[in-house]
Amino acid sequence: MKIKNYINGEFVNPISNNWLPNFQPATGELYGEIPNSNEKDVDLAVEAAINAFDNWSKMDVSERSKILTKIADLLLENIDAFAKAEAIDNGKPLALARTIDIPRAADNFRFFAHAITQFGSESYESIGKGAINYTLRHPIGVVGCISPWNLPLYLFTWKIAPAIAAGNCVVAKPSEVTPMTAFLLGEICIKAGLPKGVLNIVHGLGQSAGNAIVSHDKVKVISFTGGTKTGAAIAKIAAPKFKKLSLELGGKNPNIIFADCDYEQMLKTTVLSSFSNQGQICLCGSRIFVEETIYEKFKHDFVQLVSKLKVGNPLEKDTNIGALVSKQHLDKVLSYVEIAKKEGAKVLFGGKQIKIKDLENGYFMQPTILEVKTDNCQVNQEEIFGPIVTIMPFKTEEEVLKMANSVRYGLSATIWTNNLKRTLKFSTEIEAGIVWVNTWMLRDLRTPFGGVKDSGVGREGGFEALRFFTEPKNVCLKY
Ligand code: NAD
Repeated sequence: MKIKNYINGEFVNPISNNWLPNFQPATGELYGEIPNSNEKDVDLAVEAAINAFDNWSKMDVSERSKILTKIADLLLENIDAFAKAEAIDNGKPLALARTIDIPRAADNFRFFAHAITQFGSESYESIGKGAINYTLRHPIGVVGCISPWNLPLYLFTWKIAPAIAAGNCVVAKPSEVTPMTAFLLGEICIKAGLPKGVLNIVHGLGQSAGNAIVSHDKVKVISFTGGTKTGAAIAKIAAPKFKKLSLELGGKNPNIIFADCDYEQMLKTTVLSSFSNQGQICLCGSRIFVEETIYEKFKHDFVQLVSKLKVGNPLEKDTNIGALVSKQHLDKVLSYVEIAKKEGAKVLFGGKQIKIKDLENGYFMQPTILEVKTDNCQVNQEEIFGPIVTIMPFKTEEEVLKMANSVRYGLSATIWTNNLKRTLKFSTEIEAGIVWVNTWMLRDLRTPFGGVKDSGVGREGGFEALRFFTEPKNVCLKY
């Protein structure tokens, strides 16, 4: 199957007629081609976005809102096709795509369709000076949205929905590894009556298509989710051009378990926070710290539960863990098992590639638990982004807090405790953009989302996103 670019409301081939292979992670086989777009394709997309901007930005907000709602409705009407496409393209279990990825993509559109109708701005009366200040928030123009492969449609729409809700026009690039649902989204946009040029989807490599979006002088805003190294490269290009930038980057999140927690709930959730989506979620709690008094029990129970997870065909109903996204990624993740062994870690479970019957060439790997001796080792400090977690015991609050904050990342953290004082202390002192207490991945789209340290710059979600995608202008009116 040949995927096409979606530019100015139409599906078009890349100008160069160059194509990239698209592999199916569960079979390891080639199953399609995607445009290997370059700056000429991006130029066309930007031109279409510029032409659409005047009408779209001036459209009555309630009309814009209706179109976004229609996109959400159509996504849900087509949920089976989208979920299957996502599972095949990414390797994730179909059930996960059906219950999380696609509903959340629809929610992104529905949420921002509502949010934009409630979005206001400040005004200040300067009493004594006889003046009033009010702030206008206008859409900025052409926005570039670049997203990764782990939650393909979910993260793609997380950027596009607020950007267009706020009245901007978008040139977006999904990951070249998982282009399928972004391609299908184009058809939905046409059916929903989204005016041509409001959303343009260009496929291709980061170094060419992605770089062309980031470098384009007419693209004033970049919203990027992906690796920290890529984020740094993007920032280097965007900074001298004074582009507005939002960067959602890597993570190495601590999962801190105290003996006074609700044990069963913690155990069940920790399996999810470790291995959901094959551990390929930026929010996964990949460093597990367990209070010494329950460490041996936890270790035993955790290994037991993890050993029951079914690794297999993403399209089968009872599969818990599907395929990793690519051969290259599988090799990278596996290499960390070897690094861990050299560092003196013990493999408590997993650590190996698996051959699944009839899918012998698929990129499958066992969920892997590494018991590390020290927090200051490579597998505990670097983002692996696969089905590998480390575990180690701790004695005191001070010790675990120090270890939790010892990495370069600061995306999210999870704390399991019923102690209020401790909850307050940790949620204040942990270096992270998001802290979950006695839960994981419980999301409310109104809340700010993003990381500190090398996990990113800026916040998306709720009104934060609408603020990001608009330019404030203050007006001071003397009366
Ligand atoms: P990546 O950085 O390799 O690629 C992300 C996107 O950027 C892709 O579309 C890619 O084509 C594009 N890209 C690559 N080089 C580029 C360049 N020079 N200029 C412009 N675009 C370029 O990341 P990935 O491997 O797709 O995704 C995994 C990473 O994403 C992990 O580090 C993970 O933690 C991170 N992530 C972060 C969040 C978050 O919200 N913080 C969410 C999901 C994933």
